[in-house]
Amino acid sequence: MMAAEETFDAPNPMDKNMTLRQRALVVGLGISGTASALRLHRAGWDVVVLEKAPERRRGGYFIALFGTGIAAAERLGIADAVPNRVAPEAVSYEVDRTDRRRRGLSYADVFGGSRLVLRGDIEDAAFTALPDEVEIRYATVPSALDQYLAGVDVEIRDLTTETTTVERFDLVVGADGLRSTVRRLAFEPEQSPIRPMNYMIAAYSLPEAVPGYRLHDGLIMAEEGRSAWVFPFADRPPTVLLSYRTDDVDAQFTRPAIDSLRAAYGPEPTGSTLGWLLDQFEKAPDHLFDSAEQVHLDHWHSGRVVLVGDAAWCLTVYSGMGASTGLAGADLLGTMLERHPHDVPRALQDWEDHLRPFVDHHLGSGVNMRSFFTPGNRAELLLRTAMIRLARLPIAGRLLAKMRTNSAGVRMKSLDIAAAAA
Ligand SMILES: Cc1cc2nc3c(=O)[nH]c(=O)nc-3n(C[C@H](O)[C@H](O)[C@H](O)COP(=O)(O)OP(=O)(O)OC[C@H]3O[C@@H](n4cnc5c(N)ncnc54)[C@H](O)[C@@H]3O)c2cc1C
Repeated sequence: MMAAEETFDAPNPMDKNMTLRQRALVVGLGISGTASALRLHRAGWDVVVLEKAPERRRGGYFIALFGTGIAAAERLGIADAVPNRVAPEAVSYEVDRTDRRRRGLSYADVFGGSRLVLRGDIEDAAFTALPDEVEIRYATVPSALDQYLAGVDVEIRDLTTETTTVERFDLVVGADGLRSTVRRLAFEPEQSPIRPMNYMIAAYSLPEAVPGYRLHDGLIMAEEGRSAWVFPFADRPPTVLLSYRTDDVDAQFTRPAIDSLRAAYGPEPTGSTLGWLLDQFEKAPDHLFDSAEQVHLDHWHSGRVVLVGDAAWCLTVYSGMGASTGLAGADLLGTMLERHPHDVPRALQDWEDHLRPFVDHHLGSGVNMRSFFTPGNRAELLLRTAMIRLARLPIAGRLLAKMRTNSAGVRMKSLDIAAAAA
């Protein structure tokens, strides 16, 4: 694609009459794309959404939605439709391969005030709120972008009919995730913006409680370079997150995912609980198995093209803020487009200026919090164990909880971005 500065101004009939509605293309129907489509429609735009998959995906893994995301969901009008599946009676255990268990800290113990959901809960809430006028095209992808001062010509490929068409839009929102096509077409950075963390993750749902535990019990098995988390919910069986360190990410994809997992959690005997969890991965009708990678870009917008969510700044599971930031980014985008209704580049610049310090903070926390999920080495493992033991002591625990509540890290999880910009 041509860079914005090098483009010529092709006339756009929409711009001759500022009262005409402007047209936006949103690529991706995940949390960020659906929220962007909803917010842009509210801001008075005509919206078309492209989704590569032939239909909407369902379910998904455990997500903690923090204050930032809840505030954005409220303004988007979907907060009431996002359930809170936290089980008040949940108990979390630190366990090992010999099935020794010790009371630990649950996600809710560490980050009180967050809403515990499935990824699909947020997607469903935003999707249900989309009005009929928002046109959704499944099995459809962008294949080329040509940008002019007055608009973006997008070549659109229908994967079912294998046909392409070209359409003009006033704005293109790339919300197509970690391996974004819009990013590749519109930004073409010299160096890949994907920064590997050398960790792999697997996420899936369990059909029932872990044998020997109650449905509302959470489990954490943390070892040097690998961990297994079982997240309980109030109203459904738990979901699992497996996370492990590897020096060769590519090799993890050269064999069936279960073989890579068994190799990573071996060669020691798994014990009954870890063995059962691995068996369940193999039986799960649906799972995620991927590398944990961040996206670092100098700019999230170029002319009339903008990236939102994982496509722009993938924070990784370890930050716990990807969904919240996707919602907040979409919400703020609408706010800035309302502020500068006929100056898209200006709106995008203001949007990025407001959002960047927040996202930079959480890119950092994605790296720092990784050792809480999966200690990278013996020192991190010992530190994690010591912190959990300390947190369970009456006085030290209260002190630590207070320090956590007042910490900048926790406050940054609750920042209401669009309100701060207003
Ligand atoms: C295991 C796990 C746990 C997590 N836990 C948390 C948590 O506790 N809290 C939190 O806030 N975040 C969490 N996250 C992060 C969060 O899930 C993501 O940041 C968020 O879902 C990203 O949403 P997105 O819409 O930006 O991208 P995606 O969810 O990747 O959606 C992208 C969409 O674009 C579509 N697409 C891709 N390419 C194309 C194309 N070429 N054309 C058209 N469509 C395309 C895809 O099919 C998909 O529908 C977690 C992530 C993982 C993996």
